[in-house]
Amino acid sequence: MALVRSEGIVLKTHALGDTSRIVVVYMRDQGLTRLVAKGARKTPSRFGFALEPLSRGRYVFYYKPDRDLHLLSQADTLAPTGSRIADLARLAHAEAALELVDKLVWGEEPHAELYDLLATTLESIAAAPEASLPALTIAFELQVASLLGYRPRLDACADCGRALSPERLFSPARGGLVCDACAADGGTVRLSADALAGLALLLTRPVHEAGQYLEVRRSGEILRVVEAFLKHHFQRFQGLRSLELLRSLTTPEPVA
Ligand SMILES: [Zn+2]
Repeated sequence: MALVRSEGIVLKTHALGDTSRIVVVYMRDQGLTRLVAKGARKTPSRFGFALEPLSRGRYVFYYKPDRDLHLLSQADTLAPTGSRIADLARLAHAEAALELVDKLVWGEEPHAELYDLLATTLESIAAAPEASLPALTIAFELQVASLLGYRPRLDACADCGRALSPERLFSPARGGLVCDACAADGGTVRLSADALAGLALLLTRPVHEAGQYLEVRRSGEILRVVEAFLKHHFQRFQGLRSLELLRSLTTPEPVA
């Protein structure tokens, strides 16, 4: 049993018995880690905001290689992100980012780049104008998928590598834009020129700039394509529950 320290972001927590809490933390040096915080429900003040979902903190715990749960020794808050977010839309987008990591990432494999992307995305969501939130979420989805090895292909046919159809046909199953011949097999969505340009920028530019690249009226169109893409390539992903409430409040744009 080794004492391990790592920075992390709390994805979710569950009650454990009457007094303790299980805290699922995505850690920069340890990947997805489940910690037992003994007495955390009896004396919550002991850990401050460090065990709250969305919080970024520094965690010290007893690591047992063959166990699924590790005993938390100490937790210090670095950024109490959840306590800075007051409005429902912002909270839904922040929770969507946590949900995406929870669904797409497996086990204790560390991925520092992905961790840093989550940390900067949560900071951006806490501070961005509300109109930028859908763009931030879509950029985060695209960039997480890319870091995990599923980058949508936009420069040549995702299936055969030949020149793209001028119709801007995106195939979620084949992982990007396709040519006319491959599009004949079906399963494609026709993107508007604006949506495709937005998609390309969201994929490559820093997440905090995402609001500059996507008009809100195009976000519904891109979000549906990106989510179809994620569903095809990540078995555990079935759409972001955190955004369902918001989606029911907005009318999607028809695909042009
Ligand atoms: Zn093709």
